[in-house]
Amino acid sequence: MVAIGIDIGGTKIAIAAVGSQGEVLASVRFATEPNLGFKTALSKMISGINHVISDGVLKGEMLDGIGIGCAGPVDPARGTIHNPHTLPTWDDCDLVSPLAERFAVPVRMENDADAAASGEARFGAGRGSDPMVMLTFGTGIGFAAIVKGQIYRGVAGEHPEAGHIPTIADGPECYCGLRGCFEAMASGTAIDAAGKVSGFADGRAVFAAAAAGDSLASGILDVAVNSTATAIWTLAHTFLPQRFVLGGGLIDDHFELFAAHARTALSRAVLLPKGRVEVVRASLGNDAGVVGAASLVMKTGNIG
Ligand SMILES: [Zn+2]
Repeated sequence: MVAIGIDIGGTKIAIAAVGSQGEVLASVRFATEPNLGFKTALSKMISGINHVISDGVLKGEMLDGIGIGCAGPVDPARGTIHNPHTLPTWDDCDLVSPLAERFAVPVRMENDADAAASGEARFGAGRGSDPMVMLTFGTGIGFAAIVKGQIYRGVAGEHPEAGHIPTIADGPECYCGLRGCFEAMASGTAIDAAGKVSGFADGRAVFAAAAAGDSLASGILDVAVNSTATAIWTLAHTFLPQRFVLGGGLIDDHFELFAAHARTALSRAVLLPKGRVEVVRASLGNDAGVVGAASLVMKTGNIG
């Protein structure tokens, strides 16, 4: 069994052939360059797919399908992209139909957070847990929930945005219109911005200074981890997941800092089953995007 996973971000696209155990068999990466238009990107994606399957990975097997995780919003039912902010020239473009026609296999597209959660649920740190909630800490905060083996969807199939749970009263203004949103306090962008206001070069400098005992830097991180604990508390009381899976660049290096506060908060929750809600680190690392995307079209035990 081999499936193609395509992970589309604002700056780069990664394509991989992925085997039945979630292993990357061959991969390629290139710049997204949304300024060059959708058709150029589509033809680069077709070349990329041909490249990874021409690497001898199929060994006579059929290709199961092509899964796509795309920086949202996307419409999974229509296979279209609606992200004028990150992918301005791709608005309302249909990526699914041309790939299905060209390769004659099932093609499915989801928001990248949903694709990553599907991968962690099937091959990574979410295995064996249901419901599962995944939070991805990067430029923003990605949210996805897997409930009864299915990607949880809201009205009209849309994707809930838990990054906009308000967590800190009178926090900085968020682009959604509220103040103190989880994403506005704890994302990489938020820590960068808070650091710059206090004279640090960037978020990395904030973490380094906090580790060296700087109280200003520690204060910035306290706000971020407290915001995270409040968001996890809120989601625990809403979804009551068996497991929270935390991933993304920030978490790769600082998981224990964020998880410890969330676990302490959950241990005090009198209305939740004692000790049943786990907080774990995502395990697919750099391959999470492509493996998650490929998992969307794998035939057995499919995450729907
Ligand atoms: Zn917001």
